[in-house]
Amino acid sequence: MKPKARVATVWLDGCSGCHMSFLDMDERLIDLAEQIELVYSPLVDTKEFPPGVDVTLVEGAVSSTEDERRIRLIRERTRILVSLGDCAVTANVPSLRNPIGVDAVLHRAYVENATLQPQIPQDSLPALLPRVRPVHAVVTVDVFMPGCPPSADTINFALTELLDGRLPDFSGSVRFG
Ligand code: SF4
Repeated sequence: MKPKARVATVWLDGCSGCHMSFLDMDERLIDLAEQIELVYSPLVDTKEFPPGVDVTLVEGAVSSTEDERRIRLIRERTRILVSLGDCAVTANVPSLRNPIGVDAVLHRAYVENATLQPQIPQDSLPALLPRVRPVHAVVTVDVFMPGCPPSADTINFALTELLDGRLPDFSGSVRFG
């Protein structure tokens, strides 16, 4: 019997919509569960990203120092890294803050828009990077899966190809989102 592939999914700076699309694979998830071991994900309770992962799907852009630390560790421990969705592929929505600047964004969110106790939290926010970047601007990415979010059909196609030992080719008729 073929050993199960070790698969992870990661949520950086995204809205979780790409993970919702993954779950929209519905009954195909049952077939997938026969072929993979989900070793790390927001959908399971593992706390530390493990070594020896075959495929990692990354949702979201790299926006904070913690995102950057995580994606570098994930890259070291993953054989095939997939940018899942437009936030990972292009930085998309999270990068809308880039022209504005971190200080102005925090001031707008926590001071100008606050009705009670306007103040920028000092110790409960992740340290934001000056610019939000797509995943491939920080580490090498093997597969780019565009879409906001990519459709369940697209994710299913990509995983099927990867589990069969091929890199997915999205130039055909697969829908993006
Ligand atoms: Fe959400 Fe779209 Fe970004 Fe996915 S690509 S995390 S659905 S905004």
